[in-house]
This record gives sequence, C-alpha cells and structure tokens, in this order.
Amino acid sequence: MIRIGFDIGGSKIAAIALDRQGRELARLRRDVPRDHSATLAALVGLCGELQHGRGPARSIGIGMPGLIGAAGALIRVVNLPWLQGRPLQRDLQDAVRCPVRIANDANCFALSEAVDGAAAGVPVVFGATLGTGVGGGIVVDGKPLAGANAVAGEWGHNPLPGTDAADGSPVVCGCGRTGCIETWLNGAALVRDYRIVTGGEHSAPAIARLAEQGDADARTALARYQRRLATALAGVINILDPDVIVLGGGLSSITSLYAEVPKLWAPLVLAPQPETKLVPARFGPQSGLRGAAWLGHSA
Ligand SMILES: [Zn+2]
Repeated sequence: MIRIGFDIGGSKIAAIALDRQGRELARLRRDVPRDHSATLAALVGLCGELQHGRGPARSIGIGMPGLIGAAGALIRVVNLPWLQGRPLQRDLQDAVRCPVRIANDANCFALSEAVDGAAAGVPVVFGATLGTGVGGGIVVDGKPLAGANAVAGEWGHNPLPGTDAADGSPVVCGCGRTGCIETWLNGAALVRDYRIVTGGEHSAPAIARLAEQGDADARTALARYQRRLATALAGVINILDPDVIVLGGGLSSITSLYAEVPKLWAPLVLAPQPETKLVPARFGPQSGLRGAAWLGHSA
C-alpha cells in the first residue's frame, strides 16, 4: 500500500508516492488545469500513474495554499479560484474510492517534519516557512491543527511589534494589511534591510552568503532580520509553546539563524530558560508534498 500526496500551487501540481516507511517511490509534475472538473481529472490520472505497478493507495492527501477547513472545505484559495467552495475532497474520493484529506500547505509542511522530519515524534511542532511569503502550521500529537476559522498557525499576517526606525517603514502586505510579519520576514524584507544599510541591491541568498563570508554590512542587515524573526517567534512560543520550531522556505537555508535567533528570543519568552529548539526542515522544498502524503496517516 502506498500513500499519495499532491501539492497544488498556482501553476503546477506536484505529486508523490511514499511507501509505508516514508521512502519516496515516485514524483510527478503537471500543469494545473484552470477549472474544477479538469483539475479533478488530472488528480485522478496522476493517482492512476502513481499506483501503476506499485499497488493501491491507502490514502491520498492534498496540500494547497489558502484557508482549508478541518473537513477539507476550500474556504479561500486565492490562487485557485475555480476550486474555491467546490467539493474537491468528496469528488476525488468518489472517483478513486480511497480516503482523501486536504489541508493548508504550511500545515502539510509542519506535518511532514513532525512525522519523519526534523521534529519527528515531537508533541507540539510549529512549522514556519520563510520565502516570498511567510506561512505557518501547527501539529499537535501528530495531527495538523486547522482551527475554528481555518487560520491556525497563520502568524504571517499578524502585525509585528517592536520594529524600530532602523527597520524602515512598514509596507503593504499581499493580504492588504500593512506591517504584517510576512512583510518583515520574507526575502524582500532582507533585501530592504541591506538597501537601508548600504544603499545597494543584492538578493536575499547573496546577502546571506556575504554575511557568512564576514561582510560587515550584510551582517548588520541580517542581524536586523534575525531580531525581527526572534520577536515574531517569541510571540508564537508564548502562545503555543512548541517543543520544536522547524523553518522551511528559501531563507531557512541561512545557517546562522539557528544559533542566533534562540539567543535573541530568550529575553522575550516568559520562561526563564526557553527549551524550544529551532531547526531547519529535513526535507527542504519537498516537505510540503511529503506532508500531504502523510495526511491520511494522521487521520
Ligand atoms: Zn498580511
């Protein structure tokens, strides 16, 4: 028996088949069709391909960005408007005769790391993705938490307290609000930090590289980013108190975050010596897709 996972983004469907132990058996990619029935047909076709010669699927999971209710309701999926409000879970289940679960992609990321990743077997896990956007997912005792409003873990759209003049002015977020955590912690925020310090332009990976090589300006820019990340995560710790926080997304490859940020959050967390660990994702960019495949496992 295999487990199938799908990650549906704005333009591509990624699909994976895992065996019982979580070993990857196959991975496929397709363009996302632009209507509900064609998307359903594409998923059914991918299921057939993944099962061919590997045996039937025990469960199917789907991760996608947006607000996904605990029962798989597609409440708000901005990138995939033709799926919004449609019964994709039921339709796919009926078509393939196999249990289907759908969850927010950041919840899938956190689940992947909680099942067999960097936080394997840990009771309370917060998964935070730092990339073009800033997402978050919560897993408690191996189960992803959707929440009453399907927004559990969406820390990226809270305002960030404690910014100062050195951080520059708040900017408008993709969600329409101003000064969201996402706008202070995405790749563009680090680029802005570097611009404020030097007047010059570099990409976020280049700034991280320069900082690692000891460049003083890049280090100053990165220190501001780290301070804001610590502030934002201290807020998560004081509410959720996770055992482990796993970072994913492009900025999670900045190795200095893992030593520096816990030092910076220590005075902001109510506990005298916070035990929460900050670790990089084990499965990197594949984690969300693997977590989708594990959704059936956590049911
Ligand atoms: Zn926002």
